[in-house]
Amino acid sequence: MTNRKFTRRDCLRFAVGGAVTLPFAQSVWGARAQAVLPQLPKSFDEIDHFDVTHRVRDGWQASIPEPTSSCEVAIVGGGISALTAAWRLADRKVMLLEKEGETGGNSRGREFEGCRYALGAFMNQGPMAPFEDFFRELNVPLVEVHGNQHAWAGNGRLVRDPLGQGLGRLPFARTEVKALEKATQLLASYAKPKEGIFFPRADNTESIRALDRNTMWAEYQRLGLGAQGKQFFDALISARVGDSGEMLSAWMGSYLLSSAVARNYTAPGGHAVFSEVLRSRIPASSVRTSFTVIRVAQQSSDKVWITGVRGGAGSEGQLETIEADTAIMGVPKFYCMHMVEGLRQARPNALTQYTYNAYLVAQVFLRERIDVPFETCAPNNFTRFIVAPDQLPGNARRDGGGLLTIYIPYPRVAGRAMLYAADVKALGEQIVRDIESVYPAARGKVEAVKLHRWGHPMLTTRPGMDDALEKVRESFGRVAFAHSDSFGVTGLYSAIWTGMDAEAEARAILMS
Ligand SMILES: Cc1cc2nc3c(=O)[nH]c(=O)nc-3n(C[C@H](O)[C@H](O)[C@H](O)COP(=O)(O)OP(=O)(O)OC[C@H]3O[C@@H](n4cnc5c(N)ncnc54)[C@H](O)[C@@H]3O)c2cc1C
Repeated sequence: MTNRKFTRRDCLRFAVGGAVTLPFAQSVWGARAQAVLPQLPKSFDEIDHFDVTHRVRDGWQASIPEPTSSCEVAIVGGGISALTAAWRLADRKVMLLEKEGETGGNSRGREFEGCRYALGAFMNQGPMAPFEDFFRELNVPLVEVHGNQHAWAGNGRLVRDPLGQGLGRLPFARTEVKALEKATQLLASYAKPKEGIFFPRADNTESIRALDRNTMWAEYQRLGLGAQGKQFFDALISARVGDSGEMLSAWMGSYLLSSAVARNYTAPGGHAVFSEVLRSRIPASSVRTSFTVIRVAQQSSDKVWITGVRGGAGSEGQLETIEADTAIMGVPKFYCMHMVEGLRQARPNALTQYTYNAYLVAQVFLRERIDVPFETCAPNNFTRFIVAPDQLPGNARRDGGGLLTIYIPYPRVAGRAMLYAADVKALGEQIVRDIESVYPAARGKVEAVKLHRWGHPMLTTRPGMDDALEKVRESFGRVAFAHSDSFGVTGLYSAIWTGMDAEAEARAILMS
């Protein structure tokens, strides 16, 4: 219970937010009996803007202006993959074009009272081959997240280190726990650097490669998991791709689960630290934000014209064309299909293995910090993944308040439709209820909720993904492809890797 006085600032904040006061048993002001209900959002605090890109998807035939500027390499997108390519091409005349008002894509962050938090990506496996040099050069302050900083919540119980010491304490039947133990050992063997499961898939052993013939649900059966084990692993998979293992390639599912048993790292601010460091290494004159690319067209002159709308993805700004010797597409493949002229006709079946999943991310601000694990998976709740950035060293709020980041996946087309139709205030209310039930210490302490909505950030890749993906990421004339979806999983490593690959492709094109 806090001793903090109710200040004039609090008064103003809640008055502005239009909060309602009601009797509340666990009031932070205790005996004064009247508690202030949390400030709930009326609209999303941040979204990805899609007015222009949806117009393109729906067949917009803009009249294309002549180029007014030129560069050697135009990079479309400003996420980690695009930033990686731009940084590594620093010796060339590069122009990076990002539709939002800032770079970083799904690896962006914010700060409140000295506590840095992520709007999207936050966890990775740390420096590993072939990225050690890359990590060393970026010198990002990674923090290891140990097993007991992970938790599983269900049946009124919070179990720490559920994939390690806590496995036996999960409230599951004995046979389920036994099957899970065996499956977890297998996953640990997959996590080994040489004989394990890794990209590129072609370098894996035959038995590991064969996993790509089945779905993850078929793999659960092979591993002898019952309903509880299946739900447990599905929740972990959903944390990484935003979908269950129903349609997911068992190769991809096993890869993702093996990363859950490996060493995990984060940083205050999550993966924003990577995008910010990368951005700081790129000259400001090489970056344009609020520039939504609508068309990438190869000319008979061996040039590529990149046309975009200036002035933000949500507005109908002016059209502008840039001429480049080559272009790198650091945006999801389904955008590429609409933007790169001739691509859809050349690769009509390219996206059959892909399903993009939407995500709701919420920031829950608490009047006081509560002691919780860094990451909790609560599969029976609406708020399935809860991260506590304020638990990281040096990242507590200056004012003593707490902060939780909630991740809620909305899988497939139906999920996205549901998220887009959702009542924002009801989402906020549900999140507060959930947080209070998962962490009783949070009761009555939520002061505000902010919501972020992302439309297509996560990917489910179906069996047979690898052959399909190889074709999808091949260069198309003078256009090379970056973006993490090139490897079938939207993650830090695939973003860095495809950024590096695209750099090499672009150099080869420039020399041709
Ligand atoms: C909620 C959430 C949680 C995540 N958690 C993790 C995690 O813990 N660990 C992990 O490894 N990964 C995580 N990810 C995945 C994360 O997306 C990747 O790690 C990485 O940020 C992807 O980088 P990218 O460059 O491939 O693409 P993106 O981040 O998708 O960047 C694409 C960029 O292109 C821009 N763009 C799109 N269309 C256009 C256009 N027409 N013109 C110009 N610009 C355009 C977009 O605005 C965006 O900035 C998470 C993602 C989300 C959304």
